[in-house]
Amino acid sequence: MPELPEVETVRRGLQPVMEGARIVTAEARRGDLRFPFQPDFAKRLQGQTVTGLGRRAKYLLADLGSGDVLLMHLGMSGSFRVIKPEHEETPGEFHYPRGKDSVHDHVVFHMSSGADIVFNDPRRFGFMKIIGRGEIEREPHLKDLGPEPLGNEFDAAMLARACVGKKTSLKAALLDQRVVAGLGNIYVCEALFRAHLSPRRLAATLATKKGEPTDHARRLVEAIHTVLNEAIRAGGSSLRDHRQTSGELGYFQHSFQVYDREGEPCRTDGCEGVVKRFVQNGRSTFWCPKCQR
Ligand SMILES: [Zn+2]
Repeated sequence: MPELPEVETVRRGLQPVMEGARIVTAEARRGDLRFPFQPDFAKRLQGQTVTGLGRRAKYLLADLGSGDVLLMHLGMSGSFRVIKPEHEETPGEFHYPRGKDSVHDHVVFHMSSGADIVFNDPRRFGFMKIIGRGEIEREPHLKDLGPEPLGNEFDAAMLARACVGKKTSLKAALLDQRVVAGLGNIYVCEALFRAHLSPRRLAATLATKKGEPTDHARRLVEAIHTVLNEAIRAGGSSLRDHRQTSGELGYFQHSFQVYDREGEPCRTDGCEGVVKRFVQNGRSTFWCPKCQR
């Protein structure tokens, strides 16, 4: 499932083909993904220039010349593919490289540059929705989101304020999109590992009684920044490789320190621990009980 770094990677991959280009026509090839498409979906996109492509948490937001915003979410399995016109000269090589999957090509934007942008989503948990720019504040998917973890306002003081007196675990607090937006299971596990903090620790321990950040809060914010930036950098290098081949803009396997490493040795210098897994709030938590306290 794509998390913030993967969505940011997709944004960076789509930006050069979308920004400043016009959507000549848009096709929704079925009536719904996670939600039904709006009846006027294709019509509202037709002829619109994409003036900017941004991201909020795990949502992509394409600003359109009409004043509308196209909100896009990758869900569990969504990915984009860019088919450029020069590829038409080598048919078969670049067109629908994963032939069996083309039945899952649910949305296509035909751009004025001649490029086609194809959204493929086998499990159909993704969605697209058009809203007016003035409706962004009220949009149910966006309105309760907390700060961007890589934005200026997210720091130890802010995280501490959000966790004062919180009786939930640190893991649950970080997965709460109102506390910080866009983190999912993988990067929460990775950040807690790097901060040497137990996923079971009470969220309240990030703040003093007065709500000042503790050392733990500072370490955790630093770890969140590091892990996300590393993943975005890794995504960037995958992007360059992928652009040279199929034009696939999906999400990429990064090398994780704890996630999916149950039973393997801990990678903390000098730690003799072994990575363990347990189920917490219905999700697998991976951690080293020896160096995460
Ligand atoms: Zn360890």
